[in-house]
Amino acid sequence: MTRLTWGGNLRADREAQMAYDRLKPKPKKVRPKAKTKAERKAAKLLRKQRKLARKQRRPEPVNRKDFRTYAEYLASPWWKWRRRRTMRLAGYHCQRCGTAARLQVHHKNYARVGNEADEDLEALCEPCHVAEHPEHQPSSQ
Ligand SMILES: [Zn+2]
Ligand SMILES: [Zn+2]
Repeated sequence: MTRLTWGGNLRADREAQMAYDRLKPKPKKVRPKAKTKAERKAAKLLRKQRKLARKQRRPEPVNRKDFRTYAEYLASPWWKWRRRRTMRLAGYHCQRCGTAARLQVHHKNYARVGNEADEDLEALCEPCHVAEHPEHQPSSQ
């Protein structure tokens, strides 16, 4: 296996995870189902506004060369946004085993670091993530 020279830093991932846990979204309130046409219309408008607001919060992609370390990159607004989005798209569950505990975001490839696409990333729990990085396990060092 090729050794990663940049990225796949599990300790940095774990620290980013701890920061993420502190700002985890609150459980969603269950809204009553819209009954009338006017209620449905209002709900649709609200969804549209929320989607637009999320889009406006999206930070600009970054250049990985501007970061000295991977940990520094993981602290960037871009990565924080990318991380939240990956978690949200995965429904806050590990995409391998389905657990909701100790989720991290794994790079399936490092080709677009700083401007990752949805398909470059996946939400994994810590054990599944560690299994993806055998080169970083203490026993092999
Ligand atoms: Zn898992
Ligand atoms: Zn990973």
